[in-house]
Amino acid sequence: MRTREVCLLIGRDGDVLWSDESDNPFLLPDSRERWEAIWQLRAQLEEVAHSHPEGPLGFSAEDESTMSALTSALGRTLRFSVVSPGGMVARVDGRDVLVAEEPWWAEPLRRASGMRREPIALA
Ligand SMILES: [Zn+2]
Repeated sequence: MRTREVCLLIGRDGDVLWSDESDNPFLLPDSRERWEAIWQLRAQLEEVAHSHPEGPLGFSAEDESTMSALTSALGRTLRFSVVSPGGMVARVDGRDVLVAEEPWWAEPLRRASGMRREPIALA
């Protein structure tokens, strides 16, 4: 199965407000539709999540510039997160933290991205 990056806009109660996807698993190009959705939903928007179906578990250089553009456009800091096969990382107060308890949409996001969860090694 081909993988693709999927982007989710998450609201206050953990609702998925909007989503889109790209055929390129390494780069979700900036889309005008996404910017318009972000702007329309900005009052409810809490988090912007996206997948890295091929890894890494972390933010790319493109992600960094998108995050700083969003922060200055909205005038406040959103939560940003990346979901990869092996886990989930979020940027909280400027630091990247591993998310131990993943939100309900993390698994559907993996499935929509064509990811298979890495098997958990048994001790
Ligand atoms: Zn990314």
